Amino acid sequence: MITENLALVEERIAAACARAGRERSEVQLIAVSKTKPAEMLREAYEAGVRDFGENKPQEIRDKHPLLPEDIRWHMIGHLQRNKIKYIIDRVCMIHSVDSLRLAQAIDEEAGKRGLVMPVLAEVNMAKEASKGGIMPEEAEEFIRQISILPHIHVEGLMTIAPFTEHAEENRPYFRNLRKLCVDIGQKSIDNVSMCRLSMGMTGDYEVAIEEGATMVRVGTGIFGERFYGSTQQDGRA
Ligand SMILES: *Cc1c(COP(=O)(O)O)cnc(C)c1O
Repeated sequence: MITENLALVEERIAAACARAGRERSEVQLIAVSKTKPAEMLREAYEAGVRDFGENKPQEIRDKHPLLPEDIRWHMIGHLQRNKIKYIIDRVCMIHSVDSLRLAQAIDEEAGKRGLVMPVLAEVNMAKEASKGGIMPEEAEEFIRQISILPHIHVEGLMTIAPFTEHAEENRPYFRNLRKLCVDIGQKSIDNVSMCRLSMGMTGDYEVAIEEGATMVRVGTGIFGERFYGSTQQDGRA
């Protein structure tokens, strides 16, 4: 099932790239495997997936030893400062940095291990009260503040668009995130390269690609529906 789903997602990514006049290689597919067992990730791995997204540090810590070394793990969900230590030397990027305190804590843990962690600033484009992320008008100042931290490297922006049945409704949010990224990039802030745009999920990744996404985070479209216990919550809830 996963292999077939991946083929369909690949087809749609290729079509969206073609519509937008972009190369397929400009868009990285991140398979969002939260709540899914390691066997399912292995099936995706065998079908060629190397980038996996998780939103809970514990899940990364638990799955990491069960799966091949060449997987690139992406932390895409809300991150508590006391959990950073579980993932700091396991992930290739943290997509969800939205406070100075969190950035400082990541910088500190990365420093202890002698590494520089690539990060994205999460922006709440639709200004939804239920979501994390900084406000778009605060983004430049926020990036200036965290750019001075020596053990993180800001590589772009991320957003979680509103849940909708109609992907077109999210197009303005994606378009504006790209504009924001270009604007901040033109400020040439030291230690910042605004080249990555992490946007688009199962319901809207094609629109996100048309609007310039360089990373799409697809869960349900690859692994099927998620089933949660009473204590778990979707990042999009
Ligand atoms: C769960 C999640 C996704 C994937 O959502 P789907 O709709 O299943 O594709 C993407 N990004 C974040 C931050 C998530 O929490």
